[in-house]
Amino acid sequence: MKQLSIAIDGPASSGKSTVAKILAKKLDFVYCDTGSMYRALTYLAIKEGIDFQDEAGLVALILNNSISFKQAEEGQLVFVNNVDVTNEIRQPDVTNGVSFVAMHAKVRSKMVALQQEIGRLGGVVMDGRDIGTAVLPNAEVKIFLVASVQERAERRYKENIEKGITTDFDTLKQEIEQRDHVDSTREVSPLVQAKDAIKIDTTGMNIEEVVLAIEAIIHSKAE
Ligand code: C5P
Repeated sequence: MKQLSIAIDGPASSGKSTVAKILAKKLDFVYCDTGSMYRALTYLAIKEGIDFQDEAGLVALILNNSISFKQAEEGQLVFVNNVDVTNEIRQPDVTNGVSFVAMHAKVRSKMVALQQEIGRLGGVVMDGRDIGTAVLPNAEVKIFLVASVQERAERRYKENIEKGITTDFDTLKQEIEQRDHVDSTREVSPLVQAKDAIKIDTTGMNIEEVVLAIEAIIHSKAE
């Protein structure tokens, strides 16, 4: 398989990370979950008491702390200053704050530079909101995954229960809608389908079906 770059974008809980992780494993490519980088920064901001609106303070956090990743059997582990924060960055306080941290231009340019370095050699499956438009604009394969908000909330609700996080379903649905709204309406690199991306509506599809659909697209590009 050629060392392709595969960009997977889409709104919250559209299944991007699950699918990207499976594809990377099958292809023996690097997997990069860019949302976890913004989540790690949000986690740090909460811990250090930095306001989500304080762009300079957030940039200083990136410069003065290390955010790193390790590929493990169960997926990508995330470390802040060498401490494993993989579970902490999925907690509701981080999830509900992350869009406000990710909207700042200077925060994004630092994160995008790190992501481009990871994707420099190709052989990568990267998921996020601006991968096909800003991070890897030359990616050979660009996928835009969508699903109804009802189904996305149901998926997230089940995931939360499995992780032992209790959430009210309607609140969860509202939070997903709010995050999509902030991500889609921000000035810098908003969540938008790249012109050359292929949209897949995963409503009613299971993970295996989504993976198969993307694999068919990858193989058509790799020939
Ligand atoms: O993918 P995930 O839901 O973990 O992303 C968390 C948040 O990080 C998104 O809601 C968005 O605000 C931000 N994000 C982003 N650009 C990316 C990936 C994530 O702005 N490439």
